[in-house]
Amino acid sequence: MDIGSTATLNNGIEMPLLGLGVYLTPDGKICRQAVTEALDFGYRHVDTARIYENEKSVGKAIHESEIPREEIFVTTKLWNSDHGYDRTIAACKESLDRLGMDYVDCYLIHWPVEELRSESWRAMETLHEEGLCRSIGVSNYMIHHLEELMGECNVVPAANQVEFSPFLFQERLLAFCRSQGIMLQAYSPLTKGQRLDDPLLATIADRHGVTAAQVLIRWALQHDVVVLPKSQDPQRIRENGSIYGFELTEEEMQQLNGLDEGLRTSWDPTHQP
Ligand code: NDP
Repeated sequence: MDIGSTATLNNGIEMPLLGLGVYLTPDGKICRQAVTEALDFGYRHVDTARIYENEKSVGKAIHESEIPREEIFVTTKLWNSDHGYDRTIAACKESLDRLGMDYVDCYLIHWPVEELRSESWRAMETLHEEGLCRSIGVSNYMIHHLEELMGECNVVPAANQVEFSPFLFQERLLAFCRSQGIMLQAYSPLTKGQRLDDPLLATIADRHGVTAAQVLIRWALQHDVVVLPKSQDPQRIRENGSIYGFELTEEEMQQLNGLDEGLRTSWDPTHQP
C-alpha cells in the first residue's frame, strides 16, 4: 500500500484510499496552497462540498497542477437546501462551474434530508447517466437510510461518507456497507484534533515512531476504508500522507477499536428519520 493505492468501487471506478479533506479550509490562497501541497506530495483525491465554499480554489489548484484531470479524484456534495429533482441537477452544474470541471468523480448527498432525498437520488442517477458524475453516493446515511435507498434505487450508491475513528467505530454500519458493495469513507478521522492526546494513541505512536494523527489514519486504512484527513498546514499534509512505513498489529487494532465512545464531532444522523 502507498499514497497511490486505490479501492475499486462497485461501478469499477478507482477511488484513492487517502484523500485531502478541505472542510474549513479558507477559500483562496490557503485552500489553493493546501491542495497544491497535497498533490505535490502525491495525494490524488480531494474532498470538498458546496457548503465548504472553496470549490473554486480546489478546481484552480487542480488545474494549475498540470496533473492530468483523470488522475485526480474529486468529490463534492449536494447541500441540504438544494434537494429535490430539479434543484439537485442545477446544484451539481453550479458546483461543476465553480470547480471549472466537466465532471466530478463522485457526487454525494451530504445529509439524508427527509422526504426529498429519494427524489434527489433520482436526479443523482440522471447526473450519473449523463456523465456529469462518474460515481454517486451518500453521506451521513445510517443503516435505515441505506435500506430505504436500496429498496428504491436503480444505481446503488458507490460510497457512504460518515464519521469514523476509533472513538466512533461504526462497526455495524461498516459491515452493512460492505455487504451492499458500498465503500465507506471516513470523515473527521483525526477527531478534529479532539482526541489526539489520548494515552493509548500516544503509546502506540511512540512504539512505531510516528504521531497520533498517523496512527489514526493508519487505523482507518487497515479497516479497508477510504480516509479523508483535513489539514491546511503543509507540514501536517505531508505528515498525514506519510503513513506507509509502518503497520499496526492485530492487537493494536483491537485496542484502538476498544476506544469507541460514540464520539461525534459534528452532526449525528442516528435519529434522522
Ligand atoms: P479531521 O478529523 O480531519 O481533523 C482536522 C483538524 O485536525 C484540523 O484542525 C487540522 O488542523 C488538524 N490536523 C490535521 N492534521 C493534523 C496532524 N497531523 N496533527 C495535528 N493536528 C492535525 O476533521 P474534519 O472534520 O475536517 O474531517 C476531514 C474531512 O472529512 C473534512 O475536511 C471533509 O472533507 C470531510 N467531512 C465530511 C463531513 C460530511 O458530513 N460528509 C463532515 C465532516 C468532515 P490544520 O488544518 O491546521 O492542520
